[in-house]
Amino acid sequence: MKLSFDGADRGVTGSCHLLETAGVKILVDCGLYQGGRPAVEENAGDFGFFARDIDFVLLTHAHLDHCGRLPLLEKRGFRGEIVATAATRDLARLVLLDAAHLQEEEARAHARRAERRGETEAPAPLYGLIDVLNVFDRFGRVAVYEKRIELAPGVAVTFFDAGHILGSASVLVEAEGKRILFSGDIGNSGRAILRDPVVPAGGIDAVVMESTYGDRDHRALAPTLDEFYEALNESFRRGGNVVIPTFALERAQELLFTMREGVERNRLPASLPVFLDSPMAISATEIFRKHPECYDGETEALLAKGVDPFGLPRLHFTRDASESIALNAVRGGAVIMAGAGMCNGGRVRHHLRHNLGRPGASVIFVGFAARGTLARQIIDGARKISLFGDEIFVRARVYTINGFSAHAGQTELVAWHKKASPARTFLVHGEEEAMAALAGLLPGPVERPEFSQSFVL
Ligand SMILES: [Zn+2]
Ligand SMILES: [Zn+2]
Repeated sequence: MKLSFDGADRGVTGSCHLLETAGVKILVDCGLYQGGRPAVEENAGDFGFFARDIDFVLLTHAHLDHCGRLPLLEKRGFRGEIVATAATRDLARLVLLDAAHLQEEEARAHARRAERRGETEAPAPLYGLIDVLNVFDRFGRVAVYEKRIELAPGVAVTFFDAGHILGSASVLVEAEGKRILFSGDIGNSGRAILRDPVVPAGGIDAVVMESTYGDRDHRALAPTLDEFYEALNESFRRGGNVVIPTFALERAQELLFTMREGVERNRLPASLPVFLDSPMAISATEIFRKHPECYDGETEALLAKGVDPFGLPRLHFTRDASESIALNAVRGGAVIMAGAGMCNGGRVRHHLRHNLGRPGASVIFVGFAARGTLARQIIDGARKISLFGDEIFVRARVYTINGFSAHAGQTELVAWHKKASPARTFLVHGEEEAMAALAGLLPGPVERPEFSQSFVL
């Protein structure tokens, strides 16, 4: 049995691990590298294996850093079977269609720039809509949590709820008398909507484990909710609009859930008008409604009582661009959730343009913001930013709330590992420092593979 690391090695993005066993080649995830120029080149580079040789892909979840190169895999000759949970399949369709659309748009912009410079060649998109449609023909059996699937003769796989996003899984592969566990991304326990991560019982020979927050813990959930409700209430008193840059997948639904709870517990006014101004977040919310099998006990109980977990008395979904533009005329009292979460694109930029300069307005950041993004600039206290060619002085109040995270913190990662108690550990999906810190806390041999490194198990 051979295990190779073809992505997310000493870095967070581009998850891609290859297991060769019992005469088949199994890929666990085929994610996109994200973040600047080097990522563009890594994505276009060789996989480290031949796409046509892959028999199966086990997809842990629908985040782009795990599924984002699947259309490229298909384009380069992959004709095997993709196995994922039903929720992951639905979310991956949405995420990949959006990714292809963005890549095609970017390629067009590059081509225009190249033409202006008089160059004849412009970079082609990594893949297009047609490749996304094609890869959806490769989705085969649907994984149900904790139900064993005979993948191929002598190879069985079982998906366990990873509690990270809707449909997310850790995947156990059993072959040649060995049990190999791929963690996928491990969720943060106690969060709204989702169950806590499940770790399979019994001996594990090797684990391939994420280490995103291997060097720190998150702020606890209760004070995070207090801070969020306080920020909203304070903003109302001040009278302006509240803009929340929102990631479409998971965070948007988590915020709707949290605001509904806030209204029910009289911590937020019921008159709160909330606009979800993101076609992608609206579609993702519809997919959430379709998959109650992924909900935790609390959310199931709400459904049993006939309560809509994502329902607010004055919630508006604005899918049309015209409805979104109409929001620009609203000068106060509205909560506007719009993407992109890091403000590097999307409708949120229009809302920032109209609200950042208003002293009564607020901007609440509830997620990670990478260096170099507009969100990062504002969080870091920029007095002035430029948007659509205009200079805007930041007069709105800016809140940064750090406790919402879809990833387990250090303490939870260590506890997860203890439950799995593997004979051998391979750390992936983390920056160097985070990985080193976590490695120091785990018992047994811990490897931190480099790109393309292989191990015989
Ligand atoms: Zn993820
Ligand atoms: Zn990830």
